[in-house]
Formats: sequence, structure tokens, C-alpha cells
Amino acid sequence: MNAEEFRARLVLELRGEGIYDDRLLEAIERVPRDMFVPRPFQHQAWDNVALPIDCGQTISQPAVVARMTQALELDERMKVLEIGTGSGYQTSILSYLCRRVYTIERHRELLQQAESRLEALRRRNVTARLGDGSKGWPEQAPFERILVTAAAIDIPPRLSAQLSVGGVMVVPIGDDPENQRIVRVRRQEDGLDIDDLGPVKFVPLVSDRAAEPLSG
Ligand code: SAM
Repeated sequence: MNAEEFRARLVLELRGEGIYDDRLLEAIERVPRDMFVPRPFQHQAWDNVALPIDCGQTISQPAVVARMTQALELDERMKVLEIGTGSGYQTSILSYLCRRVYTIERHRELLQQAESRLEALRRRNVTARLGDGSKGWPEQAPFERILVTAAAIDIPPRLSAQLSVGGVMVVPIGDDPENQRIVRVRRQEDGLDIDDLGPVKFVPLVSDRAAEPLSG
């Protein structure tokens, strides 16, 4: 199978799993996932599986990236905050679907690798920084969309506060990796509407108290 056939196979599989957003499927076909996957796993880069990356983290399964991104209901005018840059793969997908992406990662090494991939792919509408994403990015708030790609124990209050009214956050919730749910939070004038979008498995969102020292 050549590179094009691998990409087409993945898109077909995602369609079969209920992904219908054509812009999103186009972005998935376009972003070279092999650039975000470590060398020993290159042969699986276009498989619908999560894979290990540095710092004990993972690049998410394409089906999970697709489900969560579709649930955001993005359009090209939106400003999006992403928590957990990881490899930068999901960031890159988002960058094709909205106006600007702000992304936060707590591991310097991962952030640097992601930034150089995003630069190589000329994703000019991405701003990345090191830090504890559970605090959000207050200087840039409010955001029309927030995507959290690590599991929180509960809906992070500082993130929901940085959503614009009508804004949507998609976040995995649950401290037991065997019992996590994807949750969609919509901010209303008078509170939050919450939808359960089904089971998932993510690495934990690590907040400052438990995190490695942040020095920049
Ligand atoms: N979306 C990423 C990708 O496409 O490669 C995968 C993200 S990985 C499942 C979760 C990431 O969240 C890890 O890189 C982890 O270091 C990061 N993370 C966990 N807690 C965080 C926090 N409080 N602030 C910022 N990043 C955090």
C-alpha cells in the first residue's frame, strides 16, 4: 500500500465510525501523521491506533481525534484553545478548521518538537506555550472553542470560565482510565449545558501541584 492508499483507508474507516464532517476528513487526509509519530512506530502511523510519544505521553487514536474535533462544530472564524499539545498532531488538524489555535503543553521537550513540526508544515495560525493548561490562557480569553486532550477529574472551572457565551468545550472526564467519558460543555448565559459523548481513554490532565517544575 502506498502513502495515499494508507490515508484513504484511514478516512474510510473514520467514515464507517460515524465521522461525516468533510472538512475534518480532508484535514485528516492532509496532515501527515507519520511526521508526528516516533521512528519505531512509523509502520503504524496511518493505523487507527494511539501510539507512544516522548515523556510517557501518547498521540491519540485518529478516531478519538476525529470524534472530539467533530463534536467541537468548528468554523473557520473561530478562536480555539487546545490543552495538551503532545505531538502537535491534533493542533495541526485544528489549524485547518479554525482561524487561530492557542495550544498549551506542560512538557518542554514535547512542545519544542511540536513547534518544529508545525513550523515545517507552515501552520502559521498556531501559537503555542509551555505551562499548566488547566489554568487556560486568560490573556487570550474568551475562546469560542476549547479542546482538552488529557483527562480531567471534573469540568475544569477555569477553562469553562474562559469560554464565550455559546462557546463549546470538549473534555475527557474521569480519574479512572477505565472509566472516562468525553463530555461536551456549552456555555449559556446562565450556566453550562453538558452532554455525554461516550467512553474514551486518555492520559491524565496534570495540574501544577503534581506537575514537573515549570521554568519558562
Ligand atoms: N493531542 C495530542 C496529539 O495529537 O499528539 C495528544 C495529547 S496527549 C494524549 C496529552 C497531552 O497533555 C500530553 O502531552 C501531556 O503532557 C499534556 N498535559 C497533561 N496535563 C497538562 C496540563 N495541565 N497542561 C498542559 N498539558 C498537559
